[in-house]
Amino acid sequence: MIKAVFSDRDGVINSDRPDYVKNVSELNIYPFFPSAVKDFNGLGFSVFVISNQQGVGKGIYTMEDVRGIEAEIRKAAESAGGVITDFRYCTHLESEKCACRKPRAGMILDLAAEYDIDLTKSFVIGDSVRDVGAAAEAGVRSILVLSGSASAETAEKMDPKPDFVARDIADAVSLVKIAAKDA
Ligand SMILES: [Mg+2]
Ligand SMILES: [Zn+2]
Repeated sequence: MIKAVFSDRDGVINSDRPDYVKNVSELNIYPFFPSAVKDFNGLGFSVFVISNQQGVGKGIYTMEDVRGIEAEIRKAAESAGGVITDFRYCTHLESEKCACRKPRAGMILDLAAEYDIDLTKSFVIGDSVRDVGAAAEAGVRSILVLSGSASAETAEKMDPKPDFVARDIADAVSLVKIAAKDA
């Protein structure tokens, strides 16, 4: 079995925006993201991206736009010597109540089955309560990062509570390094 880091996209890998990151021209990848992927790989983790993209379901942008953004993110990681194994998206509307839109665990469970991932040795990194909820449902430890929508104050009141809080995904690397020793 392999160990995984399941990373949210918007607010973790790149800056988010209130009207959705719709295409490559709106993509602003955080400068610290590429080396974090390489560091997770170095610690023995395969990196996956799991992202709610309801904007596709709403017809605001297309899956082709999402794949274009994906290619840029993959390229950025590779430029630092990091590898992202796979990407999963939920493009359903919240009102469809699917099993894959976070805070449901569908994307994590699908990847776990496909790649033989040991969820007890894995981590979810995200910037919202939906990411933390999906991690809790899947039985994966969560790291809430403050590089997106959450602040230290909202983190305090979050339900469910994240297992860890980090400044950003680069900071999460050091947390994983320590936490991975006990599990
Ligand atoms: Mg996010
Ligand atoms: Zn879905």
